[in-house]
Amino acid sequence: MRYLFSDRFGGVSKTPFASLNLALHVGDNSQDVKKNRELLAKKIETDRLVFMEQVHKDHIEIVTDTTTQEVLKTDAMISNIKGVGLCVMVADCIPILFYDSFKEVIAVAHAGRQGIALNIANRVIESMIYNFSSKVENIEIFMGPSIKSCCYEVKKDAIKGFENYSYAREDKIYLDIGEKCIEDMLKIGIVPKNIIYSSTCTCCNQKYFSYRRDGKTGRFCGVITL
Ligand SMILES: [Zn+2]
Repeated sequence: MRYLFSDRFGGVSKTPFASLNLALHVGDNSQDVKKNRELLAKKIETDRLVFMEQVHKDHIEIVTDTTTQEVLKTDAMISNIKGVGLCVMVADCIPILFYDSFKEVIAVAHAGRQGIALNIANRVIESMIYNFSSKVENIEIFMGPSIKSCCYEVKKDAIKGFENYSYAREDKIYLDIGEKCIEDMLKIGIVPKNIIYSSTCTCCNQKYFSYRRDGKTGRFCGVITL
């Protein structure tokens, strides 16, 4: 298994997508995005990357030999096919990668506030257990850079479901969606030592694309392959 989280650098896109933008839907030149995706494929050493059209819901697709490069309207994918690189695009949401080394199964999830409210990570874990006979204690989790409670200010009505993960500072409210996501996964039996959580905030760190910081910008990726 190989996995990586990309950053802004090493691609061919121009400002404001400079330079390794991996998303076609943000207004970038599609030829540049295609080139960037080729560079990413080379880096992770696979020639078959699969991307999602992400819609902030909790649908999960199982990627098979016949799946094309773009899976429509889904926020998670699971596969046991060798040589397929599952990609999740983000710019503040949490890119979550899953791996069961016993059953050789991989998965990705796009986890923003809405996805986490729908418990998307646990839905993926349950699907790995149901469809691939994974055992929860064998599932490893890699959570990439995402917006943290230092920067994730929300309006009052966005707190619902996150009451225990909201923090007030100077009359403003901030959420820690990663903390809720981790606690949800621990509740169904994910082993704490099997969670690797990046403490990097995408909005604070210029190395990453951040929708909150820049608005019109690119997307970086979490990728996992067998
Ligand atoms: Zn921050």
